Amino acid sequence: MYKGKMHVKKGDTVEVISGKDKGKKGKVLTAFPKENRVIVEGVNMLTKHVKPTRQLQQGGIVHQEGPVHASNVLLYCPKCKGGRRVGKKFLKDGTKVRYCKSCGETLDK
Ligand SMILES: [Zn+2]
Repeated sequence: MYKGKMHVKKGDTVEVISGKDKGKKGKVLTAFPKENRVIVEGVNMLTKHVKPTRQLQQGGIVHQEGPVHASNVLLYCPKCKGGRRVGKKFLKDGTKVRYCKSCGETLDK
């Protein structure tokens, strides 16, 4: 289906549409196109127990985002105020942009 290209990329604001974080909105921190996964700010928080190290003397618990499948997120449309499916189109100058399939708003500026 995807040929190594995802509908979302680093820096995008997305909404989670399934799983325990459904409805959460956040920024894509890292994208892994090969695995079709993304890490979204504040989504899929994992708790890691860390042993004391020289940098972290106390050790303890670290909260860290885990990757989610790209199909579980949709690009956030500020006009629709929610995650929406996007299409692609070309502007007059040939620039390829993504747009919201619900309202037609261009989502790449
Ligand atoms: Zn929209």
